[in-house]
Amino acid sequence: MVKQFTYKIYRKPKNKHLHRLVNLHARLYNHCIALHKRYYRLTGKHLNQYALMHHISGLKQRAGFEWIGELGSQSVQDVIQRIERGYALFFKETKRGNKRIRPPTFRPVRKYRSFTLKQVGWKLVADNIIRIDGRTHKFALSRPIEGQIKTVTIKRDAVGDFWVCFACDVGDVEPTIAATGNTGGMDFGLKTFLTFDDGSAIQSPEFFKQGSHAIGTANRSLARKKVGSKNRSKALKRLARVHRTVARQRDDWQWKAARAVATKYDVVWIEDLNLTGMKARWGRKVSDLAFGNFVLKLDDVLKSNGKTLSKRERYFASSQTHFACGYVNKALTLADREWVCPQCGETVQRDVNAALMLKHGRAMSWGGDGIRRALPAAIVDTQESPSL
Ligand SMILES: [Zn+2]
Repeated sequence: MVKQFTYKIYRKPKNKHLHRLVNLHARLYNHCIALHKRYYRLTGKHLNQYALMHHISGLKQRAGFEWIGELGSQSVQDVIQRIERGYALFFKETKRGNKRIRPPTFRPVRKYRSFTLKQVGWKLVADNIIRIDGRTHKFALSRPIEGQIKTVTIKRDAVGDFWVCFACDVGDVEPTIAATGNTGGMDFGLKTFLTFDDGSAIQSPEFFKQGSHAIGTANRSLARKKVGSKNRSKALKRLARVHRTVARQRDDWQWKAARAVATKYDVVWIEDLNLTGMKARWGRKVSDLAFGNFVLKLDDVLKSNGKTLSKRERYFASSQTHFACGYVNKALTLADREWVCPQCGETVQRDVNAALMLKHGRAMSWGGDGIRRALPAAIVDTQESPSL
């Protein structure tokens, strides 16, 4: 298994060299994008990454392109592969009929974030000192690096700080969360972050709200600063810092929540929500809660503990259907947190009902008499959604 170990590089004047390296990679990235675009314009075909690689390595000798020589050949390769991955995704999604996806495009140098080195171009000269491009950089070794280092990525964040990120092969990982034998369904919500089928829940923490308040304050402060002024660039940095703090708090909380879920269940059923679908349902706020990120974390925690996350089709979790009797409440609106089922008279907790629907899926079906019966096993198998 590959694990990421990220450490902060101490803020030093010599970090300007790292800035320069990231900027040069950005320049190369944009140059490659330009070549891709031109090639397509002239031939109507996608520029082959190996041809591009060959072209770039020949470019070094040409006047005006000496700077490419400053970059390691592997990190040049990495820039080209990043673009290639972007195109691969674009082709795949276009084929699937996704019209919103765009091919990789130019990126402002200021916003370009990182470059990646593989086996060469770096050396650990001590536990917490890395040499890059002939200069040593000390980083805060907050925990030991484990396993075998595969790649080293230098990242620049919006605040202007640098991070060194080691991707390490740590081999097989022993589960740290015990098996429970339980299967559960859970539903996502705005106020109640997760509702489980047994009625328990995880609430969204208050600091999510505090975070968006702090972002709002920093944003308004930025809006008052004159464009191009020094105060404006300071305010920008402050805003970036607030965003970073909020993102870290959210990440930390989400990892803990993911572990809590994994401690409860071995198999977790969730609704297969695409982000567009979620936005349609709950509006812009969804991105604040970053459900998508949480699902990735949850999948990671479950997998590394030998557990599974499974998704069901969206229509499936329909909160409109009463799990106990199969009555479909067409009049249900988003505001209804609970309703009384006219068919069986039971009070239905909306989220718990959805979680139950997710957990049991189509394994149960309702007859016309309102009695739930298990479907034959063969049907259940073929209708099971694939895991992530
Ligand atoms: Zn009912």
